[in-house]
Amino acid sequence: MTQLLNADLHCHSVVSDGTLTPEALAERAKGNGVELWALTDHDEIGGLQRARDAAKSQGMGYLTGAEISVTFLHQTVHIVGLGFDADNTDLREGLRRTRGGRQERAMEMADGLAKVGIKDAYEGALKFVGNPELISRTHFARFLVESGVCKETNEVFRKYLTEGKPGYVPHRWALLKDAIHWITGADGMAIIAHPARYKFTPNEEFALFTEFKGHGGQGVEVVTGSHSVAEFGIYANTAKEFGLAASRGSDFHSPDESHTELGTLPPLPAGLTPVWELLSARIQ
Ligand code: AMP
Ligand code: MN
Ligand code: MN
Ligand code: MN
Repeated sequence: MTQLLNADLHCHSVVSDGTLTPEALAERAKGNGVELWALTDHDEIGGLQRARDAAKSQGMGYLTGAEISVTFLHQTVHIVGLGFDADNTDLREGLRRTRGGRQERAMEMADGLAKVGIKDAYEGALKFVGNPELISRTHFARFLVESGVCKETNEVFRKYLTEGKPGYVPHRWALLKDAIHWITGADGMAIIAHPARYKFTPNEEFALFTEFKGHGGQGVEVVTGSHSVAEFGIYANTAKEFGLAASRGSDFHSPDESHTELGTLPPLPAGLTPVWELLSARIQ
């Protein structure tokens, strides 16, 4: 399998904060020429059976996937797992615990929004939720757009849902070490998602990559919808420096919101080991 394979190994369905079903995503991916696909819902693998069946009926290669929320140095970091055994008990239990607390957090977010005059945001967000265990900031963002408070979801995050803003509630997610071990213990590969999105100092970022590698992490997203072209190059170098394989994924959530369409990113820069080369035995 080559560097040029059209692999899209990061996207979200209604099982977390995407707006399409696993079947609609698979169809869309196939329509855009994707050859190897993974659904990576946040902290949740409830959509994977449907995703696998849909990928198979579309004739695409398929890997199991999830994107796990982790707290590292007081920031939220996302770890993508690919190619794991979705029946693994420790992984399932770890994800279940990571999902726990989202509802309480959501009610606190609504309290914060009520204080600035935005009423009934919890009920409003719930209307957009496909999976009651997975209420996320994205669902609040959709409600605030629907109710005319903001024009688009990006604006909601900027004004209401990020650190220091009225609807932001600090949260403790999984430990980095645990998330990696859940994935690798289920024979999967752990991958740092969209590293350019975090606001770490260079020393903190070095600590993230060093600890990640130390706990058995093997990959990093280099070409993602969250990175600029310059960042593709920066994290290609980071991958080489740390001896990590490179991943590619759109992080597609919705036709209306996502600026990066499934399967349309450029290929990985030369000289990297694609994660799908190391995962070939796990492709279904
Ligand atoms: P949560 O897991 O509830 O904290 O929600 C995180 C999700 O919010 C991410 O996976 C993205 O889908 C979305 N998100 C985070 N930051 C932004 C942003 N600045 N603009 C739009 N969506 C964002
Ligand atoms: Mn998301
Ligand atoms: Mn993410
Ligand atoms: Mn994502």
